[in-house]
Amino acid sequence: MRVIFLGPPGAGKGTQAAKLAAHLGVPRISTGDMLREAIANGTPLGRQVEPLMERGKLVPDDVLIALVGERVREDDCAHGFILDGFPRTVAQAESLASMGLGEVSAWSVFQIEVPREELLRRLSGRRWCPRCQATYHVTSRPPRQEGVCDLDGTSLIQREDDKETVVARRLSDYDQQTAPLVTYYRERANVRRVDGNRSMDAVLEDLKTAVEVPA
Ligand SMILES: [Zn+2]
Repeated sequence: MRVIFLGPPGAGKGTQAAKLAAHLGVPRISTGDMLREAIANGTPLGRQVEPLMERGKLVPDDVLIALVGERVREDDCAHGFILDGFPRTVAQAESLASMGLGEVSAWSVFQIEVPREELLRRLSGRRWCPRCQATYHVTSRPPRQEGVCDLDGTSLIQREDDKETVVARRLSDYDQQTAPLVTYYRERANVRRVDGNRSMDAVLEDLKTAVEVPA
């Protein structure tokens, strides 16, 4: 079982990848988590990518490709895995196809679709606790007291990445960079479109059903 998620920031890919991985009993490979861990541990990779991630810049393809290439060869990936945050470019998809992991036509490729206004609402409403890193949303997951972390009383902040102008730029970056990826997979695999403008549970139920059906 090998699964790829396509879709813009705010579509819920990370959440669904984690839940589906738990359901299937396969690892979720999140490039974002691996990079943050490398930074926290001060590894050579972490020191290389930290200045890029701090400024919201993209991590180069070759770095991500090497990272994923090593990870998918670990024992726990023998029966499959779910990719989260990778591939994001056609170059990354082409490298993934050459990693000896079998034909992509046999993989499950999901494209999660959410209207632009809903993405803007989801992303720009995010709030974050700088102390314990808990995340909130002004409408869908508000803290008990407005602007204050439930867990430790710290004032919540809006991350630079989630400010409306930056969100608009992230979405147009996505259109330019990642939309060609959808074309790439449509030509090679059975890309299944999923309506992401529903509750997380409803989306997850669709995904659980779809992965049981061969691509
Ligand atoms: Zn907190």
